[in-house]
Amino acid sequence: MPYEALLYYCFAPVENPVNLERSQRRICEELDLRGRIIVAEEGINGTVSGTAEACAQYREDLRKTFPDIEFKIDEVEGHVFKGLSVKVRDEIITMGVPLGTPVHLKTGQHLSPDEWREAIQQDDVVLLDGRNDYESELGHFEGALLPPLESFRDFPAWILAHREQLEGKRILTYCTGGIRCEKLSAWMLQEGFEEVYQLDGGIVRYGKETDGAGFVGMNVVFDDRVLVPPTPAHEPITHCRECNAKSANYVNCANVLCNRRMILCPGCEESTSRCCSDECRNAPSLRAKNAKLRA
Ligand SMILES: [Zn+2]
Ligand SMILES: [Zn+2]
Repeated sequence: MPYEALLYYCFAPVENPVNLERSQRRICEELDLRGRIIVAEEGINGTVSGTAEACAQYREDLRKTFPDIEFKIDEVEGHVFKGLSVKVRDEIITMGVPLGTPVHLKTGQHLSPDEWREAIQQDDVVLLDGRNDYESELGHFEGALLPPLESFRDFPAWILAHREQLEGKRILTYCTGGIRCEKLSAWMLQEGFEEVYQLDGGIVRYGKETDGAGFVGMNVVFDDRVLVPPTPAHEPITHCRECNAKSANYVNCANVLCNRRMILCPGCEESTSRCCSDECRNAPSLRAKNAKLRA
């Protein structure tokens, strides 16, 4: 049976997030969908997997509440989530700074994948990666600013500290599926940056609708697949820290107290017992199984 993974969001006022949370849980259970859904007064953000038939029904249902919602659809082998989580939060993507005007009313100008492909070749633009450091290390648009940040919440402070590099330029932001740029570009407009554009549908849509030009490496996704090449031609740009072979196998040091994030090819993962040092290999706090890389 064919399965699909859906990635979606929609910024639109939700009157009663708790009701939406309940109805989302109900329909996901009915359709045997798994994944993660966040609802808030500003909209909905989710990624789920299920049979193609169930996913089609789910899309139809969600369009009744959010007529403008767009879905990124991937064919997958089976479920790419272990369970279902539906939560109410203050924000559907947490940036932690208030917006005077909600995102659905004012955000950066959307560029289609084809428009983006053109735009990134211009001279007077600054590309800004709106993702965390480990995501941009594994893959990014060539020439982009890659903020060394571990959390989306750190972006406002980083941008204010780098205002000079960005001011007066045409700023092109991108992220995985588009949602982070919606908020980031909305906030940047509020802060007085004048020309802010965003890649509609993010790297995921760009890889589906173009040849992927300008992007190198792998795309970090939010489900069990972890890493997906945006197009079949894309390959890792990162290297194993032990043997220097090309690899995008991101793991955490097996010593829970160290937990260092590193790239180890499968062979070295085995030969090092997934430890970053002898010290960690001999530590008492080794975990049996690697915890999943968290986006
Ligand atoms: Zn290796
Ligand atoms: Zn370690």
